Amino acid sequence: MYDGVVQELIDELGRLPGVGPKSAQRIAFHIVQTQTFDVSRLAKVLLEVRERVRFCEQCGNVSESEVCNICADPNRDRTLICVVEEPKDVAAIERTRSYEGLYHVLGGAISPIDGIGPDQLNIRGLMPRLETGEVVEVIIATDPNLEGDATASYLSRLLAAVGVQVSRLASGLPVGGDLEYADEVTLGRAFAGRRIIGQ
Ligand SMILES: [Zn+2]
Repeated sequence: MYDGVVQELIDELGRLPGVGPKSAQRIAFHIVQTQTFDVSRLAKVLLEVRERVRFCEQCGNVSESEVCNICADPNRDRTLICVVEEPKDVAAIERTRSYEGLYHVLGGAISPIDGIGPDQLNIRGLMPRLETGEVVEVIIATDPNLEGDATASYLSRLLAAVGVQVSRLASGLPVGGDLEYADEVTLGRAFAGRRIIGQ
């Protein structure tokens, strides 16, 4: 334990996901000891992100306006919607540069243990997007793990009634992991080799 505000900083950092007590301590002392570290800039960005960032009304991705840059881009292929769990998955797929369609961000995956069912996810927002008839294929790119698989089969059953083609990313992705951990080449290949699971 440290005195006062240093311990407070360690405690706050330790609340962040993926930051254990040792990392929290290391970051805190970096901030305290490094004169060149711009604390006011970090504080400003933290406040701005809370103020400015919201979720796209169409796809649920993070955005600084009502509609995100991808949804607003006239050059994207509007016949394809790729369904992912989190905004970080959109970023991972964008890095592959092998997909030019639109996205739909669920905000998680079905996980009964954690009390997350379809109603807790942004699934309701997906259905109206398919009503215009413009979308011909929905690519399900949930994580290659138990929750991702459960979500994919729920969605494929739901979408069977809508009359769009439903596909899932090809195997070859690291099983049990997160989509974001797949390297760009593997993820790109998984897209190219996606298989149709329903129509
Ligand atoms: Zn969007």
